[in-house]
Amino acid sequence: MTTNNETAGVATDKDLSDLLPSPERREEGPYAVCECHQEIPCNPCVTSCPTGAITQDTINSTPDIDFDQCVGCRECVTACPGLACFVIDETYSEQKALVNIPYEFLPLPEKGESVTGLDREGNEVTEVQVKRVDDRESLNGSNVITIVVPKDKVHRIRNIKI
Ligand code: SF4
Ligand code: SF4
Repeated sequence: MTTNNETAGVATDKDLSDLLPSPERREEGPYAVCECHQEIPCNPCVTSCPTGAITQDTINSTPDIDFDQCVGCRECVTACPGLACFVIDETYSEQKALVNIPYEFLPLPEKGESVTGLDREGNEVTEVQVKRVDDRESLNGSNVITIVVPKDKVHRIRNIKI
């Protein structure tokens, strides 16, 4: 797991544990995680969410997610300008999970391609498979890439390298 710090703007283990739903909810289907830890005036995650699952106390507050309301639609993933929101699905299979990541680089990977999964600091973790590619033309914001990852690395892999 990561051991990063606030100066790098990357989630620490404590940050991450505070963001995740209960183990029971994680077994029910996809859910969003917004790894947003800096109090800046920003709210596209809130305004993009079709179910009202994301709220803030003020526009400077970090977002809160009501996992009972989250349907895993990925709107927050494409909308967040900080590339801080992800949708995780730990119900994909016995051994594998899906991670939906915002992706700003070109070229985009292709569906079925094997790419390198990276952690939050850009370190290589393991090979992962691209399950789905949604480009920015089909969305309202960032490209979103869906990757298949080993379940034990689902909270570690947050980027890819082609
Ligand atoms: S995945 Fe969809 S429903 Fe869930 S928090 Fe993001 S925008 Fe809202
Ligand atoms: S849109 Fe992204 S950066 Fe802005 S508050 Fe929401 S999670 Fe944070």
